Amino acid sequence: MTLLAEKPQRTSGVESFKNYIGGEWVAASSGESIDNINPADTSDIVGRFPASTAQDAESAVRAAASAFAAWRKTPISARARILNKAADYLDAHADSFAVDMTREMGKPLNLARDEILRSAQTLRFYAVEGQSFAGEVFPQDDAGMIVYTEREPLGVVAVITPWNFPTSIPARKIAPALITGNTVVFKPSSDAPLSGYRLTEALAAAGIPKGVLNFVNGSAGDVGAAITTPQIVRAISFTGSTAAGEHIHRSVGITTRTQMELGGKNPLIVMADADLDQAVELAVKGGFSLTGQACTGTSRVLVMRAVKAAFTEKLLARIKTLKIGSGMTAGNDIGPLATAKQLETVLRYVEIGKREAKWLTGGDRLTGPGYGSGYYVSPAVFTDVTQSMRIAREEIFGPVLALIEVESYEDAIAKANDTEYGLSAAIATRNPSLMHAFARDIEAGTVKINRTTTGNLINAPFGGVKHSSTSTFRESGRAGLEFYTQIKTVYRGI
Ligand code: NAP
Repeated sequence: MTLLAEKPQRTSGVESFKNYIGGEWVAASSGESIDNINPADTSDIVGRFPASTAQDAESAVRAAASAFAAWRKTPISARARILNKAADYLDAHADSFAVDMTREMGKPLNLARDEILRSAQTLRFYAVEGQSFAGEVFPQDDAGMIVYTEREPLGVVAVITPWNFPTSIPARKIAPALITGNTVVFKPSSDAPLSGYRLTEALAAAGIPKGVLNFVNGSAGDVGAAITTPQIVRAISFTGSTAAGEHIHRSVGITTRTQMELGGKNPLIVMADADLDQAVELAVKGGFSLTGQACTGTSRVLVMRAVKAAFTEKLLARIKTLKIGSGMTAGNDIGPLATAKQLETVLRYVEIGKREAKWLTGGDRLTGPGYGSGYYVSPAVFTDVTQSMRIAREEIFGPVLALIEVESYEDAIAKANDTEYGLSAAIATRNPSLMHAFARDIEAGTVKINRTTTGNLINAPFGGVKHSSTSTFRESGRAGLEFYTQIKTVYRGI
């Protein structure tokens, strides 16, 4: 299979990529570009991406608006065929697109490949699920009338995404938007735009009509408002930080629907009856995979006093076995942080943690052989953390675990819920009645029992409560289709 996207231009060995607006691959009107830097080796420029302007974003919104009338009337089987063809394209290019992803944001290559395949699976899921997503027929007294609801597309929707899952998060927003007949303006993270570009390329190669999907790369400051604030943009699906999501949510009019998937401060409770080896695995995988940069990552471990010493000893021993290094090298467990900003944030929180709690290990910037100029930090653990400390309350988004001692299940739940966030939460226990109680008592959109706080299925709803999600609409699964449609009630007499 050949790549359909206009061949990126290569200057001094670095490829230049374009926006995709109205079915054309176009440069930014500014003529300027943003370098996409490899966090494992900052001398490696992965590509140059358009530094778009508000004018470019407005063109994309106009193109999406012009394409809507025809796209909403395009037979659903034709819309589904495009998603399926794009899924085939992602599958066929999974190896090379995984390399792109690892190069641009650092995650291990096997996880990057899994993400490409999962994104293909997401497109296929919505190609099928969208075809049976319909309204209802209502019983009533008039034999000469039928009363039913239709689910209509909203119109132009904006999709704005972060760098940590740069293909799968866009896929789980764009696929349900398209299958239900909406047109899309997609802005990826300006720190990792290549993976979103590849998804756009896959849909373009699959024959998506002009203007139905528009890709605009650019910094939030330059293009954000031009994408989110026009009245014609009927919905915004955003994943990113709570601060940015709440800002966008407040800045749009009442006619714009928002779905904001935001930050977390996800707890793992370790009960005294837990299998401690398993609990340690949950803490390590939940806290350190993706270098702690998952929105559902574990950042607080609430551990019962009776097992705290044994758990901590096992945790520190397990951390010593973790291999830190480039995601390109098979066998490495922890890659670099994704951006210079993340590196600075994590190192700052390590210093805060050292001042306010008891430092046990890690948090060092790693340099020298094997690390070069990459953004590597060793996994950090703090203990004797209390509820008022900043490392217990603020999202760090890095490989930093805060151990908090608890004395009972009730104490653990009270402390776990004492946070502004509510994305994901886990418990390690062998006690079935505690499992049940936890699922009821914890304030979180995703509850895990003897499983890591991270990870979610594409066919099950996903989202948070409190400041982790501003929307009543869930993403993923069948629930993910609801956000992109509105209900019209029809009373049809003879
Ligand atoms: P971010 O700084 O909030 O950026 C996310 C996206 O929003 C980027 O594309 C960014 O553009 C854009 N953006 C920021 N401000 C904007 C504005 N005012 N108008 C329009 N667009 C705007 O987040 P991040 O650092 O990329 O990602 C990490 C955060 O995402 C963490 O807080 C994490 O918890 C959260 N997250 C949540 C979930 C979830 O499902 N709940 C999943 C993954 C990540 P630029 O790149 O140009 O700044």
